[in-house]
Amino acid sequence: MSEKRTEISDLGEFGLIDRLNEKVVIKNRSSLKGIGDDAAVIDAGDHVKVVSTDLLMEGVHFDLSYAPLPHLGFKAVAVNVSDIAAMNAVPKQITVSIALSNRFSLEAVEALYEGIYAACDHYGVDLVGGDTTASRSGLAISITAIGEAKKEQISYRSGAKENDILCVTGDLGAALVGLQILEREKQVFLANPDMKPDLEKYTIVTGRQLRPDARMDIVHELAEMEIVPTSMMDISDGLASEIFHICKASGVGATIYEDKLPIDKQTFDTAVELNLDPITCVLNGGEDYELLFTIDQKDFAKLEKHPDIHFIGHITKASEGKFLVTKSGTAVQIKAQGWKHF
Ligand code: ADP
Ligand code: MG
Repeated sequence: MSEKRTEISDLGEFGLIDRLNEKVVIKNRSSLKGIGDDAAVIDAGDHVKVVSTDLLMEGVHFDLSYAPLPHLGFKAVAVNVSDIAAMNAVPKQITVSIALSNRFSLEAVEALYEGIYAACDHYGVDLVGGDTTASRSGLAISITAIGEAKKEQISYRSGAKENDILCVTGDLGAALVGLQILEREKQVFLANPDMKPDLEKYTIVTGRQLRPDARMDIVHELAEMEIVPTSMMDISDGLASEIFHICKASGVGATIYEDKLPIDKQTFDTAVELNLDPITCVLNGGEDYELLFTIDQKDFAKLEKHPDIHFIGHITKASEGKFLVTKSGTAVQIKAQGWKHF
């Protein structure tokens, strides 16, 4: 009798998570939101706690031949804070778990923690625990972040409704383009170790890849303006993929406009230099850690002049599908390529 074997790559990351989630039965009334959003939401009486966790693996998520350890420490915190921001909540505590191979010295661990402490200061969070273990296959860093919000302030992926305006913060595609540059310079260096990497022209894109900043500034500004996004998530897998998540969770469609998509000049120029289509980088590049959110039309006037929020389209009926209107006015269906781990 042969045992059944299904490849994870046939399911994909999201297929696997859906499959695991099928058998979960929530037992506690305080578990307000479980698997399926940027963070879980837990009732804490007069407010809610939000909890998110992320695991970074050497060789999968980072390459120590070009990722400086302090940057890596900062990034490991920032990506978790970004998931708390994506719920419209404020991060308060983190725990940090590391698995270390014997390649790591005390000095190396301290360099990693220099970035972790810097991020704790930057985001106003306390490091309250973690775990330390040995590893046979490189460095792994797992961080859990805990945040707080008023219950009515939480933005789920599921709240977008027809005619809401789709917004993104900052600019997109930079982290993917930065990664391509770092990989290119690594290959140049491996071929000729005397060559000094030529990275000066590319500091914006490489900086976004190596040390992204979570958009807590936007969460605080939205609170000051008394705006609660109808839905929100962070852009970790690419804009197209995240639009699919919001549309699926909310039961809606979306139309976005190519000429509204934010791209930095350095990202654009570097993409062209690398023979990449800049718009494809914006749609499918991962790891920018900007926020994608929807607002009710009544809130538009309050945000209209914001220098770092871009209005890229609007929410439609689910039956209208998901479309990108190109600069020439053609509507093309959006495909959720995103970032594939498997
Ligand atoms: P993000 O990109 O925002 O970090 P993910 O795509 O990693 O979110 O995860 C989507 C959802 O699935 C989240 O609610 C997350 O907590 C949950 N999840 C991911 N992996 C697992 C797992 N192995 N077991 C249970 N839940 C998981
Ligand atoms: Mg997220």
